[in-house]
Amino acid sequence: MAKISINIATGSLQQEEIIVGIDLGTTNSLIAIIHPDTKQPIALKEHGSSSLVPSVIYFDEAGNVLVGEEARGHLISSPERTIFSAKRLMGKSYNDIKNNAAFFSYKIIDDNTESLVKVQVGNKFYSPVDLSSFILKELKIRAEHILKTPVNKAVITVPAYFNDAQRQATRDAGKLAGLDVLRVVNEPTAASLAYGVGLNKEEHKLIAVYDLGGGTFDISILRIAGGIFEVLSTNGDTYLGGDDFDNVIVQHWTGKSGITKEMLAADSGLAQTLRLKAEEAKKYLSANDVFEDEINGHLLSITKIEFEEIIRSFVYKTIACCGSALKDAGLKNIDIETVVMVGGSTRVPLVKESVSSFFGRPVNDTVNPDEVVALGAAIQADILSGNNKEFLLLDITPLSLGIETAGGLMDVLIPRNAKIPSKAARQYTTQVDGQADMRISVFQGERDLVKDNRKLAAFNLTNIPGMPAGLPKVEVSFLINADGILTVSAKELRSGVEQSIEVKPQYGLTDIEVEKMLLESITHAKDDISIRALTEAKTEGDQLLKTTERFLQKNASMLTQEELLQTASAMQALQLAITMEDKDLVYNKIETLNDISRPYAERIMDNAIAGAMKGKVI
Ligand code: AMP
Repeated sequence: MAKISINIATGSLQQEEIIVGIDLGTTNSLIAIIHPDTKQPIALKEHGSSSLVPSVIYFDEAGNVLVGEEARGHLISSPERTIFSAKRLMGKSYNDIKNNAAFFSYKIIDDNTESLVKVQVGNKFYSPVDLSSFILKELKIRAEHILKTPVNKAVITVPAYFNDAQRQATRDAGKLAGLDVLRVVNEPTAASLAYGVGLNKEEHKLIAVYDLGGGTFDISILRIAGGIFEVLSTNGDTYLGGDDFDNVIVQHWTGKSGITKEMLAADSGLAQTLRLKAEEAKKYLSANDVFEDEINGHLLSITKIEFEEIIRSFVYKTIACCGSALKDAGLKNIDIETVVMVGGSTRVPLVKESVSSFFGRPVNDTVNPDEVVALGAAIQADILSGNNKEFLLLDITPLSLGIETAGGLMDVLIPRNAKIPSKAARQYTTQVDGQADMRISVFQGERDLVKDNRKLAAFNLTNIPGMPAGLPKVEVSFLINADGILTVSAKELRSGVEQSIEVKPQYGLTDIEVEKMLLESITHAKDDISIRALTEAKTEGDQLLKTTERFLQKNASMLTQEELLQTASAMQALQLAITMEDKDLVYNKIETLNDISRPYAERIMDNAIAGAMKGKVI
């Protein structure tokens, strides 16, 4: 049923609440909607200004917060009060970013290296979630001003490699800004949607999305089939972009123009002006052959040919990343049927030509590369508002998810590369008689032992009613929702006792860490297999010792002296084999003990049945 409401500001009737699409970028952010009349996506902008809002936040001494263009003006004058690139900190600990700490000119707290980072401005502390929420709040206010209607619901985009912690952080930032985040969508998926790719259910396609922004480069390989997007691989460089192009132009001019390194070091205003001129030159050279200007009588000139020469190594680097992404996806460049260009720096002709020649086909560059992600997010928002029901956007899990079982083994419930949303359940039981608590520890990773994987969360299932070991049936379920957030629940099926937890990891993994974990799982595969086999043997041996002991306590009187002696010595041998950590010996001793106990166990069982039959009249 469609809801109809009256817009108090305009007095007009409105059908359903608007859902906006937001591209929360590292350098710039913007907001888009589907135009109610044309049904086409448009980026929102105030009269005469750009749709791009710089992702920069300035805190003045009085505690006021400025976001966007005005905040950017303070980058040079108050670097310690002006926060940029907050997106790079989302879901990260200080340890995650310490190698790039010099990049940030503001203060990042480094005393607790394991927990989530905080930024200090004056005597106040802000988390990346707080910082992103300031940007989102500004976007929300702008949109409300332009649309003259409240904006409460949004779809927000994130890089395809964002893990669950980073996605959750983005969601939290939205909530803090007063937005109900209906979906967190991958940026390359949104960009493809903006080109109409994936809107036809019959479509089967392999897509490459090349995204070169101001400070980051991402390449994503997607497969679309039946309206479902699957990320096959991602690659890139989180510190490569148009800013590097500006820097090499500055270097090109330094000395040659009469402006020296020393002059730049002594005069930050001059350095900033030169950098802005470099960016202007770069943009100009996207459509012209020669740029000429001057600062204080110093001539600044650069030709397109010179510019291409000095940025060539950066462009090659991005192409090498495209090669790696294809390799990871198990594809060749000719397999890719559509190449989508995203990010302002893809306007550089050399970039476009290089990408096109690498994939051997023309690239899609007709949609404004600064707006394409937000426009796609608006299309996704439209799908969610019920206008395009059949579509489901799917991602995959980068690493396996599982729980710890006896002996510290990793029991995988959702394997790596599983599609999201996804669910899985498995039954477990207790190890000790009368065990009332069961600890469920959730891990992420590919190694066989949990100690080599990454712990995400843990909780206790308590109040399990007293039962002999092995009798309770505890079902552990994993559910990953469409945003990649994992919920783990445990339920004892006989009693119905239940407990669940939403997994919000303390901090995220970078794509490099994910890669490292995968690599380690391959190099250690052999060791892991033998350790797993030994652990399983030991656990089985322990269990057999426990059940035999329990059996003897109950039934010792029905066993002969010889049987008791034989059993005791077989148990001792098994115990010894377990302490010696010899898998084959453990199995051998398990078999011996079973061989000894089987005949008397059967005999006692038969007696019990016969006893039970005696009292019954047939
Ligand atoms: P984004 O992060 O996607 O907003 O991209 C911003 C980057 O694109 C900045 O480095 C801009 O200087 C660059 N850019 C914007 N327009 C152009 C253009 N016409 N030619 C070259 N680079 C551009």
